Amino acid sequence: MESAAAALRGGALVLLPTETVYGLAADAGNPQAVAQIFEAKGRPRFNPLISHVYDLAGAERIARFDARARRLAEAFWPGPLTLVLPLADPAAVCDLARAGLETVAVRAPAHPMARALLAAFGGPVVAPSANRSGRPSPTRFRDAMDETGAAAAVALDGGDCAVGLESTVVSVLDSVRLLRPGAVTRAEIEALVGPLAEAEADVKRSPGRLAAHYAPEAPVRIEARDLRPGEVLIGFGDSGGALNLSPSGDLREAAANLFKMLREADRSRPAGIAVAPVPHEGLGEAINDRLARAAGKVG
Ligand code: AMP
Ligand code: MG
Repeated sequence: MESAAAALRGGALVLLPTETVYGLAADAGNPQAVAQIFEAKGRPRFNPLISHVYDLAGAERIARFDARARRLAEAFWPGPLTLVLPLADPAAVCDLARAGLETVAVRAPAHPMARALLAAFGGPVVAPSANRSGRPSPTRFRDAMDETGAAAAVALDGGDCAVGLESTVVSVLDSVRLLRPGAVTRAEIEALVGPLAEAEADVKRSPGRLAAHYAPEAPVRIEARDLRPGEVLIGFGDSGGALNLSPSGDLREAAANLFKMLREADRSRPAGIAVAPVPHEGLGEAINDRLARAAGKVG
């Protein structure tokens, strides 16, 4: 882990496993290093990055927490929740990493390798998903290597990502808003901070939501109840399918399989990918959000 931390200190990139998806990591305070991330991903510069920290104390060095933000961090960190908060230290997270915003997105990941690297490095690390911009996030080491491995000086193999979806993003500013659904559900957040404000201005508040996202090469058709000629089926529950997100209908399993199966379905170069209906409740909100984006229904 020392060599990965040294690479970050030297301004190089590290391919990093987290419990959500693989990330391409850089020192958040080094604009040249952060620029390499945008370059390697082909990511538009208006799309800010998430700063990863070891714990709440590390987060409080870069962002301002009120009582609501602290309650959420204490409940869900380390884990798949990102908080968008007022910026406390503009030097620790460079302008480019924040796309010039006066807010910062911060998260403490749970994966032991991510935690070990953050402990060894000692400061905030930006780490967007390790895919090329617009492609499905990598949830396996070899997928991450295929996408952006060439840009990384050190690549850490942490096995398959347990969650398999990007973090839930919540802004805690004037009000508390859900900017991106994820494994920490709306209900779990509302249980701690009350009803969430409407996210009608979602796209303006979270610039990354503008881009079409998570799309494989083949066109994706969601809520599919039949199979058309040339299509590959990704099933759910008793819908069948050689690829099935979760034959037993378990949403956690479905989330962990989603991006992996989109990539697998794409591999045979089908005319299309048909995805069986997945319930919208709980974790299903995040799964359906990613599916809608993969199908080009959003952004
Ligand atoms: P990714 O790193 O690809 O998982 O995407 C990070 C997400 O966090 C994107 O949707 C960004 O728009 C969002 N994000 C990061 N920083 C901010 C911020 N300061 N304000 C609002 N959204 C943010
Ligand atoms: Mg991403």
